[in-house]
Amino acid sequence: MAKVIPLADARTVGADAASVATFARNAAYGPRREERGLVDLRGRSLHDLRISVTDRCNFRCVYCMPKDVFGRDYPFLPHAQLLTFEEIERVARVFVGLGVRKLRLTGGEPLLRRRIEHLIEKLAAIAPEVDLTLTTNGALLKQKARVLRDAGLKRVTVSLDSLDDATFRAMNDVDFPVARVLEGIDAAAAAGLGPVKVNMVVKRGTNDASIVPMARHFRGSGHIVRFIEYMDVGATNGWRMDDVVPAREIVAAIDRELPVAPAEANYTGEVAERWRYRDGSGEIGVIASVTQAFCRDCTRARLSTDGKLYTCLFADRGHDLRELVREGASDDQLRNAIIAVWAQRADRYSEIRTAATRTSKVEMSYIGG
Ligand code: SAM
Repeated sequence: MAKVIPLADARTVGADAASVATFARNAAYGPRREERGLVDLRGRSLHDLRISVTDRCNFRCVYCMPKDVFGRDYPFLPHAQLLTFEEIERVARVFVGLGVRKLRLTGGEPLLRRRIEHLIEKLAAIAPEVDLTLTTNGALLKQKARVLRDAGLKRVTVSLDSLDDATFRAMNDVDFPVARVLEGIDAAAAAGLGPVKVNMVVKRGTNDASIVPMARHFRGSGHIVRFIEYMDVGATNGWRMDDVVPAREIVAAIDRELPVAPAEANYTGEVAERWRYRDGSGEIGVIASVTQAFCRDCTRARLSTDGKLYTCLFADRGHDLRELVREGASDDQLRNAIIAVWAQRADRYSEIRTAATRTSKVEMSYIGG
């Protein structure tokens, strides 16, 4: 389990004066600076919050929650340790007050959290301009899509690693069929949760033969496939650099059969590099988090299932916000605690990754993918 840094004096003060002063200074630099709000030590704004609502999943993807580690005896968090919906809403509201404009629910598998639509309703009410999305393996999406949309969810990202049934069943390791994920994607689109983004993690020798079929299948559908380089998250997937198919190679494979051209990023800090089909039939994205690290533009914070704030997917430590909340901190104290963490942030793990990089990172299912 990850170590947790106690926030110095957070119970009474929330943040040190220097951090608050940094925030005040940032806000006083004139309109451009003001727009950026809170920035970290590398000048990066806080724009996105990913919220892990459960550390449990109904899949056992071999690269994320391998069965031999996440088996029957795995100590998943007891319910009392999870942030309640009211606590998540409160923390999210404070983040939005600090400039966050995108909230993504994830996990684990977020649709396993009971009555998740109630949380969505609460988050949707925070501010209309906030982009509210969710990442799911799609297993429960067919029956949930409409209720999620009605609750105020705006979009959905569905993970699907292959259209080849045998490959997909082997990768999710619970024998789940492709067809049911495709039904989930259709249901999401029909419910108005589109354009649906479809995430495919590419692992060499496992599903790289599925790259072009995946592109072909979704071309012209309005859905956007994003090919993700296999990452060394957590400490259980036995990651090796040799398993990574570089984004460049992915694009080249697609381009040979379905010509593509680079497209402009939608906004600074967008993780996916966009490519559009030259015949106008849509676009794909590639997320080159290993071979072309994008730490420089990373504007994401993560809230773990038990309320720890992480400022990097590859972190080994979080900052305990749940303790503050449960000990009765005011919104100002919470706000100052978050400022203190973000203002001191200097993470750039992917830029300095080497073969010998430390292995004590927290698991993705806990911190939120
Ligand atoms: N259960 C949900 C799902 O399947 O989308 C949300 C959580 S999952 C951890 C979020 C995303 O992280 C998925 O698209 C998954 O494929 C991706 N992911 C997990 N482990 C990864 C790894 N080692 N490298 C790259 N992506 C990974």
